[in-house]
Amino acid sequence: PRMKVDVLVIGAGAAGLMCAITAGQRGKRVRVVDHANKAGKKILMSGGGRCNFTNLGTTPANFLSANPHFAKSALARYTPWDFIALVEKHGIRYHEKELGQLFCDESSKLIVRMLLDECAAAGVEVRTGCAVSRVETSEEGFLVHTADGPVQATSLVVATGGLSIPSLGATGFGYELARQFGHTVLPTRAGLVPLTLSGKHQERYQDLAGVALPVSEARVGKRSFRAGLLFTHRGVSGPAILQISSYWQAGDDLRLDLSPETDIGDWLVAQRGERPAAELKNVLGDLLPKRLAQRLCEVWFPSKPMRQFREAELVDIGRQLHDWPIVASGTEGYRTAEVTLGGVDTNELSSSTMESKRVPGLYFIGEVVDVTGWLGGYNFQWAWASGHAAGEVAG
Ligand code: FAD
Repeated sequence: PRMKVDVLVIGAGAAGLMCAITAGQRGKRVRVVDHANKAGKKILMSGGGRCNFTNLGTTPANFLSANPHFAKSALARYTPWDFIALVEKHGIRYHEKELGQLFCDESSKLIVRMLLDECAAAGVEVRTGCAVSRVETSEEGFLVHTADGPVQATSLVVATGGLSIPSLGATGFGYELARQFGHTVLPTRAGLVPLTLSGKHQERYQDLAGVALPVSEARVGKRSFRAGLLFTHRGVSGPAILQISSYWQAGDDLRLDLSPETDIGDWLVAQRGERPAAELKNVLGDLLPKRLAQRLCEVWFPSKPMRQFREAELVDIGRQLHDWPIVASGTEGYRTAEVTLGGVDTNELSSSTMESKRVPGLYFIGEVVDVTGWLGGYNFQWAWASGHAAGEVAG
């Protein structure tokens, strides 16, 4: 006899496991299948192995989507505090690193263990190493052809994530299923990803690889993020760049404030009074990393004693350093991106249940949907919240 379940979830990641737990707790017969050899690989890798599992300050404004209202309902009904309660129930110790970001004290393995324990307690069957070849609709819902044989499911939940980091099991299968069922898939691109430079722009910064600014501000249009910045062999990275990368597209004007907490012009004028014989590169080296200050004075500014600068020149240098153009040529792509922007169009999904408006019983949750969070635990919060929303009604 054919295997029958109420809910079949494709993808044993953050969203899929949360959905399975929620549905299982309602007494539904639930199976989760994943082609990877273990569940939650991205959770294991996340937050440098400590999983930044939520952000206390989560609001819909921390997400990118063609419909900025879509995430509101699910986020309101499953909050960071709901997930924290689960983490505490399992005795997992955690701390706030900064800006509301919660991390495990020990290891992200504990989060995966917690989710799998909750699955077991709710009677959910999790099958890893189980590929899905084909999905068809049937009278009772869906017939899903898996490596463990055909499964008949009343509801089908697509939780296959985005395209980021193919080596962790990412595939475009969720987008293919969406198209198969007549859904629109908005163009995808890498997000939370280092930016690359090329040509003379790369050459000028290349040997600064490893130089870090603890606080900088990256801006594209009206959007800005103040956080750390890092020069790499290929371009720029660090939290400020990762954040702005989700808003940057090829050709956009990217600006950096290299020292947002100091009025550089005023500071340089004061330094001229205090140490008129000091060279600009050495003075700037007290405000910025020395190698960066040196490079700025090799390529853009003359390095001469401070007394030889007019006040207006120093003010102008300050203005430039607060609005430094970086001509990025692209991103490092899905290989290193933390997330995938775009995906299943939210216009064709219910914002309260994640159910397809086209095919009853079909759900899309997590990163495969066109909802993408900032850096800082927001992406997991979306996975938990959207998974929970579907898990409350599927089956
Ligand atoms: P995933 O967790 O990616 O799960 C999708 C699952 O589907 C995978 O197990 C995959 O194997 C399976 N799958 C894919 N295709 C198929 C198929 N064809 N058949 C069967 N199964 C399939 N976010 C945060 O909030 N905090 C962090 O600290 C953080 N750190 C990150 C670090 C890294 C290195 C990366 C890459 C991402 C990080 N993120 C972080 C983002 C976060 O991991 C994702 O947004 C989140 O995992 C998305 O959850 P999901 O369940 O939608 O997809």
